[in-house]
Amino acid sequence: MNVGAKEKGARPARAGSIVIVSAPSGSGKSTLIRRLRASDPALQFSISYTTRPPRPGERNGREYFFVSAARFRKMAASGQFAEWAQVYGHFYGTLKRQLHAAQAQGKDLLLDIDVQGHRQVRRRVPDAVSVFLLPPSYQELERRLRRRHSDAPEAIARRLAIARRELGHWHEYDYLVVNDRLPEAVRALRAIVMATRFRRTAQRVVAQGITKTFGGKKA
Ligand code: ADP
Ligand code: 5GP
Repeated sequence: MNVGAKEKGARPARAGSIVIVSAPSGSGKSTLIRRLRASDPALQFSISYTTRPPRPGERNGREYFFVSAARFRKMAASGQFAEWAQVYGHFYGTLKRQLHAAQAQGKDLLLDIDVQGHRQVRRRVPDAVSVFLLPPSYQELERRLRRRHSDAPEAIARRLAIARRELGHWHEYDYLVVNDRLPEAVRALRAIVMATRFRRTAQRVVAQGITKTFGGKKA
């Protein structure tokens, strides 16, 4: 498989891809991303900054960088974020540095961000690939949120109201995956990530290197 310079020595590496995944809360996005990452260690995960408090089991610097609202505001004011948004009453943001580092190193970077963040990143990185995950139905989304036991009933009602609004953005995304049966949804997500690695934009440098061996011109 042609995934970079390592295997072939002299062959130049392909460019890294930015893959954005958004979904209404409770659709199973965290579950899907966890499985995807476990099966694809080459995929880097963008760790966002947030002002929300950590949930049990979350560690600073692993799921998120947990910061105060004052620190977040300062970082936003000094232009450190490629995108930031307020989601469910808390601030979340992706560092510019994180995007630049991945692109410079030719790494694939997965961004788990909301619909507002997706819009901002697409403006900045037009060839980012985006995936919107859908729950099979409103009723199933409600069941999943209740079964998760991580929110009080009022918070669940708020998430469902926001989910209704977020769902209206599916047409802004490149790919749509319904998370009905988990293994199928994981396979679909894996196939999308794999396909991004073979886009012309990702493979251009590789093709140019090969063309050069034929004495041809750069495209
Ligand atoms: P999100 O990150 O989108 O808020 P989670 O990954 O926390 O959602 O999933 C919400 C709940 O739904 C969890 O209890 C999870 O185990 C469950 N879940 C995820 N995917 C599926 C699926 N395909 N079928 C049934 N339950 C699922
Ligand atoms: P949670 O608090 O449940 O981890 O995430 C809540 C929502 O915030 C999810 O929809 C998640 O995708 C979104 N989110 C997480 N990090 C970022 C970020 O850096 N930017 C934006 N815009 N949204 C984010």
